[in-house]
Amino acid sequence: MSDNQLRLVWIYPDLLSTYGDQGNALVVERRARQRGLDVARLDVRSDQPIPTSGDIYLIGGGEDRPQRLAAERLRRDGHLHRAVENGAIVFSVCAGYQILGHEFINDLGQREPGLGLLDVVSVRGEGERCVGDVLADIDPQLGLPQLTGFENHQGVTHLGATARPFARTKIGKGNGTGDGTEGAYNGTVFGTYMHGPVLARNPQIADLLLKLALDVNALPPVDDRWYEALRTERIAAAQQPA
Ligand code: GLN
Repeated sequence: MSDNQLRLVWIYPDLLSTYGDQGNALVVERRARQRGLDVARLDVRSDQPIPTSGDIYLIGGGEDRPQRLAAERLRRDGHLHRAVENGAIVFSVCAGYQILGHEFINDLGQREPGLGLLDVVSVRGEGERCVGDVLADIDPQLGLPQLTGFENHQGVTHLGATARPFARTKIGKGNGTGDGTEGAYNGTVFGTYMHGPVLARNPQIADLLLKLALDVNALPPVDDRWYEALRTERIAAAQQPA
């Protein structure tokens, strides 16, 4: 972080914002401001270059065609790699998560190269689309409470040797491989299938991103009563029989 200002970059709201992903940007922004940080939020459309000086980058979910267009433009742009080399944090959801991997199946049924920032490969699931509530235990190394989310994807994501599962599902399909893994991360690059928007439903993840950006182990607490009520409600909803 430079000049005590957090630079938050929301990538391609025009292509990858099908699932209320702006909520993720709003939550990071608000929780940073609650801790007295100055935040500069940059919403970067797909016809604009990705800045390399961001601290936290967010990439949301999307339908299959916008996902292909976003992958093409991000590959051509090339700046996200540079940002990660500079130590930036990237948090991606669903289509964004698949784009960060080595490849995924695009809307034309072809193998589309991703950015290779996560050691994962996504294929097209042969079974039913994964749709529904998710309850997941996050990787204990990340030290956060149980997560809630909502998934909606056809892709199935296989993790390579250098990708750690972000979480393990109690309810829901997650990566869809049948091994109970949900999402993936490596260093400062994260991917999940959980919508919600996921950071509104799990603001501890937003705090995790802030701690990584600030290079601190703890943040001043904020009033989370509203979130706790939402969490209780969503856990109960997830546990309802379908
Ligand atoms: N198009 C991708 C899939 O179905 C991602 C969907 C999404 O972002 N929800 O797997």
